[in-house]
Amino acid sequence: MKDLVIIGGGPAGLTAGIYGLRAGLDIVLLESIGVGGQVAQTDELENWPGEQLITGPDLVKKFEDHAVSFGLKIEFKEVSGITKNQGSITVHTDSGDIETRTVIVASGAKPRPLGAPGEKELSGKGVSYCATCDGFFYRGKEIAVIGGGDTAVKEAIYLSKVVSKVHLIHRRDSLRAEKALQDKLNEKDNVEFIWDTVCEEICGNDTDGVTHLRLKNIKNNQESQLDITGVFVFVGIRAITDFIECEKEWGFIKTNDLLETSIEGVFAAGDCRVSHLRQVATAVGDGALAASQAIEYINSDKGTPIPEREHS
Ligand SMILES: Cc1cc2nc3c(=O)[nH]c(=O)nc-3n(C[C@H](O)[C@H](O)[C@H](O)COP(=O)(O)OP(=O)(O)OC[C@H]3O[C@@H](n4cnc5c(N)ncnc54)[C@H](O)[C@@H]3O)c2cc1C
Repeated sequence: MKDLVIIGGGPAGLTAGIYGLRAGLDIVLLESIGVGGQVAQTDELENWPGEQLITGPDLVKKFEDHAVSFGLKIEFKEVSGITKNQGSITVHTDSGDIETRTVIVASGAKPRPLGAPGEKELSGKGVSYCATCDGFFYRGKEIAVIGGGDTAVKEAIYLSKVVSKVHLIHRRDSLRAEKALQDKLNEKDNVEFIWDTVCEEICGNDTDGVTHLRLKNIKNNQESQLDITGVFVFVGIRAITDFIECEKEWGFIKTNDLLETSIEGVFAAGDCRVSHLRQVATAVGDGALAASQAIEYINSDKGTPIPEREHS
């Protein structure tokens, strides 16, 4: 039996691994896609303390190398469920079950779709949720970005360096993003703002992909068409928590201050839980706290006591 199973290899999960290993726990981290989580798909970060500017892949590589140097075992498995038993927890994966004393859910989040007609059908054919993954395909072309928060503005800044023009479509008349990001975006001369506007339909076909957007100004109800071949949607995130049945709010796992979920012995950390801020710094803080609570749980009389070391 493991001491701790960590679900997710993003900043929260890797940090939990570092803290848990330093306490001598027998841990396995399960990751379904690739280590790094959302940060691996982020162009640059300017708000990670200690680094004025670092690329997302470079930052998570440092996290991974650090965790692996302490002996973190990473297995590429997708978790499909969690069952609480008397004195243990079973983690179900696509390739077998794992028995453990504690679990940290650090499964993060993924982009929330816009919900416009045509979006699903044209996903991967002009509709994208990742500028660093797909921006290159639109080199020298005009594209649209939908959204007005930090991620939308960050990704618009990145795309403005690659494409000929960015049309930023936002349903309000001002951006929600932090001021430093807004200032950077405003310096770009190939970004045009389309305020008070929603995308009614993403139009195109199987052969040509996206051909245009049907837009509507929500203040004067005027409809318009924007001819572009790429649209990047950044309208929020959705927690990846379908595999766990516990108390949630809008899909995000509810925890108390100690990051305990409604299942005893199961903790949640990072973007997958209810929180006021979802960033690398908060995910890392959560990972550390969740691991320290898992250690405390194991050492308390609530968890199954650890026999004389039996690491496997
Ligand atoms: C485009 C973009 C730009 C960003 N820019 C910044 C920035 O500049 N600064 C900043 O601080 N933050 C930024 N963020 C936010 C930051 O990336 C997240 O807050 C952070 O990655 C959350 O870490 P996490 O470990 O909680 O989750 P994630 O990074 O989402 O990692 C979760 C991991 O869990 C895995 N997983 C999910 N389900 C399962 C399962 N069932 N079984 C096994 N594994 C599973 C996933 O594959 C993933 O690897 C940005 C995010 C995006 C999308």
